[in-house]
Amino acid sequence: MPPFNVPEPLKILEKPEEIDAFTASARAAGKRIGFVPTMGALHEGHLSLISRALCECDVVICSIFVNPTQFNDPKDYERYPRVMDEDVKMLESVGCHAVFAPSEKIIYPDDSFKLQIEFGFLETVLEGKHRPGHFKGVGMVVKRLFEVVKPDRAFFGLKDYQQVMVIKELVRQFSIPVEIIGMPTIREADGLAMSSRNRLLSPEERTTALHLSRVLREAKAVFGKTSIADIKSNAIRELEALPNVKVDYFEISDGHTLQTIHVPSESSLPVALLAVFVGKVRLIDNMFLV
Ligand code: AMP
Repeated sequence: MPPFNVPEPLKILEKPEEIDAFTASARAAGKRIGFVPTMGALHEGHLSLISRALCECDVVICSIFVNPTQFNDPKDYERYPRVMDEDVKMLESVGCHAVFAPSEKIIYPDDSFKLQIEFGFLETVLEGKHRPGHFKGVGMVVKRLFEVVKPDRAFFGLKDYQQVMVIKELVRQFSIPVEIIGMPTIREADGLAMSSRNRLLSPEERTTALHLSRVLREAKAVFGKTSIADIKSNAIRELEALPNVKVDYFEISDGHTLQTIHVPSESSLPVALLAVFVGKVRLIDNMFLV
């Protein structure tokens, strides 16, 4: 017997059969499987999901798969950071039990796995509107990952606010027996929302990107005092005055439906959401306003 609990090393799994073998005994013993899907280039935001999963579940699996079907821009897919060795070290440091790192052939053995899922209104606003096909790709990959991993609970970041709504809709449409947990956005000390894409920013762009969280905080500070129309136009004006910045959208919406709101009384959960290009890097962020 070792004198203290030595953590098991991280298991690296690539095939569905390996996932089945890894989870079989835990499942048979009635243990709870937690799952954190990611595209890698891990940071503290991802680790916060894994830590929460470790608190709530007996076995935690993180997946790393840069999913081609959710990129509407092929250059964005090519540029996306891939740092598997670093990721493995980070997962080991928090005590994650296994990483599922499949090849594209495993996720999409043939075109029948590329489902055309409809998310209705959610595909017509914000990320849905500005990244055509993106949520279909997210739905495809997450449905496939859920079928392989068969988790009891899956953990997602509210940084991708609309994505959490899409995943909940996916689970509802296909009656997938998994509980979806949305977790708060983890930020750098200076306010920048953590993102794998932050690695792609130059030092100057990194400084510019700080304005994203700043305009969100400003919107929150004046919400209820300034009209929503003015909050939105001020935010867009301030952002577009910055060097190399293009605003895709800055919207104030109801957090339950993502319908645009025009006056504060229209929503009990108002949220400001933005997508902004800083140079070539597209960043998103959001903040509850009350
Ligand atoms: P990604 O690797 O970007 O696909 O993200 C994998 C998961 O981590 C998603 O559920 C994201 O919403 C979540 N995530 C990404 N950034 C953050 C963050 N800064 N705080 C909390 N969760 C995050």
